[in-house]
Amino acid sequence: MTTKTATGRAIIISGPSGSGKSTVVRQLLATCSLPIELSVSATTRQPRQGEQNGVDYLFLSREEFQHRQQAGDFLECKEVFHCGDWYGTLKETVTSGLRAGKWVLLEIDVEGAMTALESLPDAVTFFLHPGSLEELERRLRERNTEDDDVIARRLDVARKEMEFSHRYQYEIINTQVAQAVSDICEHLTHSANSPGFDSCEKN
Ligand code: 5GP
Repeated sequence: MTTKTATGRAIIISGPSGSGKSTVVRQLLATCSLPIELSVSATTRQPRQGEQNGVDYLFLSREEFQHRQQAGDFLECKEVFHCGDWYGTLKETVTSGLRAGKWVLLEIDVEGAMTALESLPDAVTFFLHPGSLEELERRLRERNTEDDDVIARRLDVARKEMEFSHRYQYEIINTQVAQAVSDICEHLTHSANSPGFDSCEKN
């Protein structure tokens, strides 16, 4: 006998640091009617002001992170800006969300996304553009959380990441947050309603 079981779906959003991903993701979670759940990544970087452990990130020491890496707990993980900070998506976070029928949203960098897609080939993928590199630099400086060296490195990474944008199903230009959020929600709603999605076959 074949039964159909509702299952969730993965969403991947990437874009250069400073492209406004976090704001877009926050508003998407608050406004889109789909049952979207953020996959909270683990990181070894220090919390920024206002960030909460377990909400924004799971903040781990380098030792804890390595331990979980060796235990095979990550779907993907990497040192994102080549300056010592590690970031990773925990398998359990994603699978438990999907099992519960959620749309699990991974906000991760381009390389992480390419790795995650190997395990999540049906993910709906979005690349968020900041508008221009000048705009990106302005946003990074305005944030006032990184020094010049870090900003220069992030801009360099941004240039490289943007070369991968065509690997994503949807490219969204984030000049107006509300518009970007509504475009993403619309694409997701469309894919939720498209034939072939909504269930997995179980024998
Ligand atoms: P931030 O330190 O500004 O929060 O994030 C820096 C970068 O790390 C962003 O591009 C973000 O998308 C990426 N990132 C956050 N979590 C993960 C993760 O779990 N895996 C990977 N590969 N990148 C991540």
